[in-house]
Amino acid sequence: MFYYIIKHIAKESEGTTVIYIITYLLRIIKSLSKFLFKVQCFLVNRYMANSPSDNPVSEKYRALKIDEMPIIEKRQLYDYKHLLSDYLEKQGKPLKPIEHRGNNIPPQGTVCPVCNAPAEYIYDNTGGRGQFKCKVCNSTLNPHSAYLEKLNLKCPH
Ligand SMILES: [Zn+2]
Repeated sequence: MFYYIIKHIAKESEGTTVIYIITYLLRIIKSLSKFLFKVQCFLVNRYMANSPSDNPVSEKYRALKIDEMPIIEKRQLYDYKHLLSDYLEKQGKPLKPIEHRGNNIPPQGTVCPVCNAPAEYIYDNTGGRGQFKCKVCNSTLNPHSAYLEKLNLKCPH
C-alpha cells in the first residue's frame, strides 16, 4: 500500500500530490478501522459477520453520518504563451500586462496555477480580500491555496 503511494507521488507534480495523499491516507484509515474491528471481535471471542457500517442506525443520528469522499479530477491546464498568441491572432493586438496601482498587488512570485501566467497578468479581484484573477485565462486564484485550482472537487452524489 505504501509502495503504491510513493509510486504515485513520483508521478504527480508537487502541488496536487497533497490532495491525493490525503485521499489515500483516509482510505487506509478506513480499511485499518475495519481490520481493527475484526481483531477486536477475535480478541473477545465473538464473531460478527457484518463489519460496522457508515450508515446511521437511528434517524436521530443522521447528522453524524460521514460523507463519501469527493471526486477529485485534474483540471485542464493551459500555457499562457499559447493563450496570449491566440489573443493576438483574434484581436489583432497583444494583451497588455496589468499596471498595478495601490496596495492590492499579488505577492511576489505569484503565478496563475491554470495557465502559469506571471504576476504581471494577475490582478486583485475582490478589493483586497484575498482573491486574485488571471487576465489571460480568467480563472480566479488565492495565492495561499493556488494548488487547489489545479483540481476539480466534485460532490460524489
Ligand atoms: Zn491564468
